[in-house]
Amino acid sequence: MADLELDSLTKIFHDGDDEIVAVDDVSVSIDDGEFVVVVGPSGCGKSTTLRMVAGLESVTSGTIRLDGESIEDVKSQNRDIAMVFQSYALYPHMTVRGNMAFGLEESTDLPDDEIQRRVEETAELLDIPELLDRKPTELSGGQQQRVALGRAIVRDPAVFLMDEPLSNLDAKLRAQMRTELQRLQEDLGVTTVYVTHDQTEAMTMGDRIAILDGGRLQQVATPLKCYHEPANRFVAGFLGEPAMNFFDVEHRDGTLVAAAFEYPISDDVAADLGSTRELVLGIRPEAVEIGGSVTDEHHFGMTVDVVEPMGDENTVYLTFGDEATETNTLVATTGGMRQISAGQSVVAHIPEDAIHVFDRTSGRALHNRRVKSEDVAEIGPE
Ligand code: ATP
Repeated sequence: MADLELDSLTKIFHDGDDEIVAVDDVSVSIDDGEFVVVVGPSGCGKSTTLRMVAGLESVTSGTIRLDGESIEDVKSQNRDIAMVFQSYALYPHMTVRGNMAFGLEESTDLPDDEIQRRVEETAELLDIPELLDRKPTELSGGQQQRVALGRAIVRDPAVFLMDEPLSNLDAKLRAQMRTELQRLQEDLGVTTVYVTHDQTEAMTMGDRIAILDGGRLQQVATPLKCYHEPANRFVAGFLGEPAMNFFDVEHRDGTLVAAAFEYPISDDVAADLGSTRELVLGIRPEAVEIGGSVTDEHHFGMTVDVVEPMGDENTVYLTFGDEATETNTLVATTGGMRQISAGQSVVAHIPEDAIHVFDRTSGRALHNRRVKSEDVAEIGPE
């Protein structure tokens, strides 16, 4: 077990005369036993970061430290790091037993019976002992995934690296493996870096998430901190489904003026905005309250444009005017049992304690919603 530190890690690829900065000055410290999920859109540099840590890609500049020792010049097979790939990368001509034993046979001088003991113990852990003598082609996708994991676990490495390991599985199996992997990582206590573009995996699996965009680190924090206190507009828009609503606004004397509406703000919020006038107002769909009457300037008479019933909840598209335009649509979610239909006139409340405000130029969050202790209810006996 070990702690892992990425210090100003940078990777530049050359394509003819063009430079592609795939990873740009990324620094993260990952504690011993911690599970960190690296998340971001396609092409943001997730895989390249992981491949540098694994030693499959050279480092352009910066340092990778494992327990304080620089490892960027250490050969991949000597790094005490095991990687699990999206493609599983199992050897088709070998049995499951052979696949799981192979790494240990190649990289250690453990006696055969010790290797077999470890393989069998890991197979038990993953609930696949009956598959040990099968070939990969005789396994389902989920079973192949377990073997790929087993091959990493059996090596008892200092660090696990996982590159979208669940993305070839169907939705149900993915959800199941998500929970299993979390439990396994907790039991084994091995420092883990897990790459995904799936925000559900990011929100649910990691102790912390590291969000990348365009090779740059946007925020590293617990999932809930990133969700409720995003560092910038990118993070705010990346996490959450349906996504946060954004409106371009101008700050004029204590009022945020959008194309479709005006939103007065308190002195406290105004103080956070300083002298920046060109802003973006953000509100999460679940924070919008539908119903009631217009009691203050944070309540708006709106028209229901479209309702998408999801069963557990409805996604409701509201417009400030009669016709939907790019700047006057507000997405809200309501309980699935609530009757609401297109064309209906409703009142929408945008509570001030739930708004986010971003600098329109830099994207930086100037004001985030306040999460008060009374908002966080504990589950206790009835
Ligand atoms: P995805 O989720 O699609 O796998 P990613 O976030 O893992 O994306 P990377 O694969 O790390 O992204 O790629 C980051 C950037 O580096 C992309 O612009 C990609 O085109 C570029 N890139 C990756 N590998 C190479 C390479 N060998 N040569 C040139 N450019 C590369």
